[in-house]
Amino acid sequence: MNMLNINTLVRPCIARLKPYSCARDEFKGEARVFVDANENPFDENKYNRYPDPLQMAVKQQIAGLKKVRPTQIMLGNGSDEPIDLIYRIFCEPTVNNAVAIAPTYGMYGVCADINNVEYRSVNLNDDYSLDASRLLAAVDANTRVIWLCSPNNPTGNLLNRSEIKKILVGFNGIVVVDEAYVDFSSEESWLSELSNYPNLIVLQTFSKAWGMASVRCGMAFASEEIIGYFNKVKYPYNINKLTQEFVLSRLQNVELKEKQTKIILDERPKLVSELEKLSVVEKVYASDANFLLVRVDNAPKIYNELAIRGIVVRSRHNIVLCNNCLRITIGTADENKIIVETLKEL
Ligand SMILES: *Cc1c(COP(=O)(O)O)cnc(C)c1O
Repeated sequence: MNMLNINTLVRPCIARLKPYSCARDEFKGEARVFVDANENPFDENKYNRYPDPLQMAVKQQIAGLKKVRPTQIMLGNGSDEPIDLIYRIFCEPTVNNAVAIAPTYGMYGVCADINNVEYRSVNLNDDYSLDASRLLAAVDANTRVIWLCSPNNPTGNLLNRSEIKKILVGFNGIVVVDEAYVDFSSEESWLSELSNYPNLIVLQTFSKAWGMASVRCGMAFASEEIIGYFNKVKYPYNINKLTQEFVLSRLQNVELKEKQTKIILDERPKLVSELEKLSVVEKVYASDANFLLVRVDNAPKIYNELAIRGIVVRSRHNIVLCNNCLRITIGTADENKIIVETLKEL
């Protein structure tokens, strides 16, 4: 893998691209008079000014928290943005392909379709564990990206570390590990491995444990070289100033995130054991995330019965390996009680 040259994986049009150079790229720092960006000069709160295109204040804070350099971070409009950009940077439409585990998060496949990139799904084992050799067998000379998600959505389990390592070492392309649920997991993040694997991209988000789903801010972590390509291709001002300020303020209150995460983690085994007692429940899968995948006797029926009673869960019944499965997010203690009591009545 040390032989890997990221340049050769990038689409030729992106390698050639001369990116848009915005006013805030051409002049950085303080000045007495800014008349370079055709902004309206009147605003007390400075929302009249274009925001920092590289969000350095936010990245400094994240870097300290995650023990990476600010230049190893890309911020996007949710994780959706880096997911889409990974295709736009590395996958030539109709030529290159991506390989992914199944079942997993739907956006990898949707973004492949939008970008007209072939998407090769490879089923996990029946117990949702990862078999690296099966994934690598789906790779050919045109494969540029492999999508992994750990803890995985909707199955909730961590993917085995040594199997992921086999993929990082055995594949001469980009390996994405989506860690949207890492804060709920018992295992360490893959961030600490970034310097060992130049082809690794780790995704995290402010949408889950951080409680900011409506703010739309996701993080991609990778080598400075890969982040350089993200910065080249992204919209110049992709994260607005309101978002930058709000995320920065919440980053200064890590305790709040940790307190809420702990409550959810305390609720998780309680909800598991309550659900396991129910006659309609056949299996509750082990979870390293803030949701449970639950196999029931009749998922469409239970989904509807719950919906009639004002409880909305996610049916995963039509997804591969998830027959009769519902995905239930761990809520407050009160919400979890309502779910269990309602299921008891069915
Ligand atoms: C929820 C989720 C995300 C988060 O997406 P955002 O666009 O950041 O809200 C990313 N990946 C997975 C697997 C998820 O389940």
